Amino acid sequence: MATLSIVATPIGNLEDITLRAIRVLKEADIVLCEDTRVTKHLLDKYDIATPTMRYDAHSTPTQQERIFSLLDEGKHVALVSDAGTPGISDPGTHLVGLVRKRLGEEVTIEAIPGPSALTAALSISGLSLASFIFLGFLPQKKGRQTLFTEIARSERAVVLYESPHRIIKTLETFAEMMPERTVAIGRELTKIHEEFVSGSADELLAYFIAHPDKVRGEFVVIVGGL
Ligand code: SAM
Repeated sequence: MATLSIVATPIGNLEDITLRAIRVLKEADIVLCEDTRVTKHLLDKYDIATPTMRYDAHSTPTQQERIFSLLDEGKHVALVSDAGTPGISDPGTHLVGLVRKRLGEEVTIEAIPGPSALTAALSISGLSLASFIFLGFLPQKKGRQTLFTEIARSERAVVLYESPHRIIKTLETFAEMMPERTVAIGRELTKIHEEFVSGSADELLAYFIAHPDKVRGEFVVIVGGL
């Protein structure tokens, strides 16, 4: 029976990979990657010679058909994203949905769990997180303001992914709409310049304005609950 393995990979530090993930990536017939160049660093580090193929949000129906054919032939296909757990704010979910719909019970879809920026940030936040809401990336225009209003009203903590281009603007909005809330930011987690800062949105804004060199890299933002 064909297998589609959804394999979590490191979010920065290449040592953050499970033994099972390494074995599955070695055993698979092909590794589908968001960006083959990014994944090559990881495969090279662990001497994994499995062929790779690009699969991302822009993959065409023809490319999807090629993946379905491989699964039809009973092949073992592994899917990774550039970082973390496929499907968490990246194209992974789309393929899993397509395969479930198209091939249903003919394919075993298995999770090879591991790192995610979401869980890494939550684990070191120290905030009260009995439950939380994960929004992923906020839309850039339409709907963004509505979500800010929802965050301001949310009794639960809210987690989102943010880009360095928008982090200052987002903090300005938080400072305006929810000045009393604790905001925590995990930046470049597991990487050389990893940092974690928390405080009011105003305090974080002041921090990043004073340190423009830190307005780069990858950010997870947590807004504490009410
Ligand atoms: N699938 C990934 C996961 O499981 O975390 C997330 C993919 S999403 C396309 C990329 C976003 O995740 C980045 O823009 C950033 O917000 C967050 N992210 C990824 N790696 C990170 C890291 N090392 N530190 C902080 N945030 C990170």
